[in-house]
Amino acid sequence: MSKSSATSPTAQTPANQTTASPTPSDSSGVSAGPSSVVRVSLAAGETPVSGVDLILLDLDGVVYKGEAAIAGAVEALNASELRIGYITNNASRSAATVADHLLRLGLEAAESDVVTSSQAAARLLADLVEPGGEVLVVGGEGLIVEVERAGFIAVFTGTPETAAVVQGFAPTVGWESLAQAAFALQGEYSERPWVATNNDWTIPVAGGIAPGNGTLVSAVHTAVGRLPIVAGKPEVPIFEAALERFGVADALFIGDRLDTDILGANRAGLRSALVLTGIDGPKQLLAASAPMRPELILTDLSELTLPYPATEFEADGVVRVRDSAVRMNGHRVELVAPGAHVDLVRASCAAVWASGLAIYGIDVDGLLMDALGIARDDSRR
Ligand SMILES: [Mg+2]
Repeated sequence: MSKSSATSPTAQTPANQTTASPTPSDSSGVSAGPSSVVRVSLAAGETPVSGVDLILLDLDGVVYKGEAAIAGAVEALNASELRIGYITNNASRSAATVADHLLRLGLEAAESDVVTSSQAAARLLADLVEPGGEVLVVGGEGLIVEVERAGFIAVFTGTPETAAVVQGFAPTVGWESLAQAAFALQGEYSERPWVATNNDWTIPVAGGIAPGNGTLVSAVHTAVGRLPIVAGKPEVPIFEAALERFGVADALFIGDRLDTDILGANRAGLRSALVLTGIDGPKQLLAASAPMRPELILTDLSELTLPYPATEFEADGVVRVRDSAVRMNGHRVELVAPGAHVDLVRASCAAVWASGLAIYGIDVDGLLMDALGIARDDSRR
């Protein structure tokens, strides 16, 4: 299986994409072929994991939501014979705690299978702080453990000896901790290194969507007027830490957010898949800029071992995935045949992304929005 460059802006014809020859009289005004980045490179009959050495998964919204497993996830992962690693931006829990959670769900996971943004942050600190140095920690158990494991002294109030500040999410982080970070990063300390585990604006928890580490980092940023170095997705240090840990050069990364998971995987040069079980769905996919577009779209992890369907660009602007089809009619995308929901999402994305038009320049047919499950008064962002 070949893989096109994750960052190349050059259009590339997918191996499994069959393009019908437009008739000479075709006057739809829409190209029958893709005109922007389309990266699906699976051959007919291949599954998302064909030719893959390692599956890397985001956790929240992919494997579990809160305490409970997402339907089908445990069965799909246990049925896989591939090496599996877990990557999480959530810095509030240690790798061991995450592994225990996965074991409780019925997965065969060890602490060494889990790569956290706290670990990636500690790896960054090693380049910035002398061994044994004092690091002001804003965060929870997961971050404290990794800072100490990396050989630093964790403190919670800055001193003149404090060598750096590291900030990660924990539900217990409050104003006092944020103020300590701000005091340690301003004035005579304005050159002091500041590392954030991740910059997620939100974090999904059992009760709903809550403010994430990016929101708390932003509070400190507002006070000190500068920004941290970020270890977690969508920055590449966490992916580099994972590839180093598992000893491979490439992997399929599966996530539920375009702005962290997919953007990060693309930046790191990994294959990418979005599952529709978490934060982002059809609306965000249609609007995604090229760097945030996944190579594959899956309903959930149960589709990992099912053949991935081809996208067919037909005459008259029709884009078809199995029984689902849409048509690009100028700047308007219309429903032709609904078929299965995920196939309609795939076809709609292929049509919109290949059009070369930004989402605000595209008129999405109301029937198509209904079939995709996008509220009609909420089609654009
Ligand atoms: Mg997630």
